[in-house]
Amino acid sequence: MATQVDVVVIGGGQAGLATSYFLRRAAIDYVVLDDQSAPGGAWRHTWDSLHLFSPAQWSSLPGWLMPASQDEYPSRNEVIEYLTKYEERYQFPVLRPVHVLSVSRLTKGLLVTTDRGEWSAKAVVSATGTWSAPYIPAYPGCEVFRGRQMHSAQYRSPNEFQGQQVLVVGGGNSGAQILAEVSKECKATWVTLHEPVFLPDDVDGQVLFERATARWKALRDGLTPAVPVGGLGDIVMVPPVREARNRGVLNARRPFSRFDADGVVWDDGVHSRVDAVIWCTGFRPALDFLRPLQLRDVDGVPRTDGTRAREEPRLWFVGYGEWCGAASATLIGVMRGARDTAQEIAQFLLSPESGEL
Ligand code: FAD
Repeated sequence: MATQVDVVVIGGGQAGLATSYFLRRAAIDYVVLDDQSAPGGAWRHTWDSLHLFSPAQWSSLPGWLMPASQDEYPSRNEVIEYLTKYEERYQFPVLRPVHVLSVSRLTKGLLVTTDRGEWSAKAVVSATGTWSAPYIPAYPGCEVFRGRQMHSAQYRSPNEFQGQQVLVVGGGNSGAQILAEVSKECKATWVTLHEPVFLPDDVDGQVLFERATARWKALRDGLTPAVPVGGLGDIVMVPPVREARNRGVLNARRPFSRFDADGVVWDDGVHSRVDAVIWCTGFRPALDFLRPLQLRDVDGVPRTDGTRAREEPRLWFVGYGEWCGAASATLIGVMRGARDTAQEIAQFLLSPESGEL
């Protein structure tokens, strides 16, 4: 017998918690289902030395500023501690570990099936992030390569690569920060599709959020955003990346043409022996559990009006990045989408259609 609830939030990371804050404030009956054993979402799985690229007060969820850090940018441990205390502070109804297997349609409402039972809900918020869906591009010969391959989602520390020949593939923040670290322990080669774009030293997450807000306001007011070059995804010059620049290691080369058993062959035919490849090639939204809804997608993401699914009016998406809100995949940026989602759900629950759908 499914447990009845008005709203199920799937995912208890920063996006799920920000949404919880606004659902709680609207006195909506909801529950958060998260498959981690403890709070923190993806932050629980990032590498040890990872720091935010924005100062604490620019990395806060709604209602409670992140406490100041002794570092210019808070560490991943400080983020996990903040998310843990944030969840305790508001006593959100988070059940964990609960893994959602599927969301399907009922004659009235949606059925959320999990490894610990079923919930039937009038509305569902998907806030599952991307960490559990790492993306690795297919290169010719990758199946014969005998070296080690890992995605940045599994990377923890440079120590395991000491003295090796390592390729770091990917030109975003992960690639730059991991290259900066491993290049101190091994012979690291940085491989990027295009020349990496480094933001000016004084442009950090705070500036990027201000730019994203200016762009969001311009688009809301029907104006053309006059936003300078560079945005989320370009490389923020956090201290470890600045240090690597001073060491002269931030030199990237374009991709190799194929793997062979013990390395790669570059476009000019030259072979390089490679012991390990660290794929810093991003993520995809973790949405497999939505397959029963058969939502059509555009470029791999569901079609939405704001954060609401266009083909399922009882489903919202929070925290996945630009397609569901400018800077929504950041601590400070997720607030807008979370607030709008809670407001829309509150209106939906008061409407006759919530009892009919
Ligand atoms: P997550 O944190 O991934 O949380 C989703 C939760 O849902 C997880 O607990 C997951 O286990 C759970 N889940 C997934 N699927 C299911 C399921 N089927 N059933 C139940 N639970 C499920 N952001 C910033 O604001 N500032 C930064 O400086 C910053 N730096 C970054 C640096 C790097 C290298 C990277 C990769 C990201 C960075 N980010 C930064 C982005 C930020 O880490 C992520 O965007 C953030 O973790 C996303 O939060 P989320 O709640 O959307 O997803």
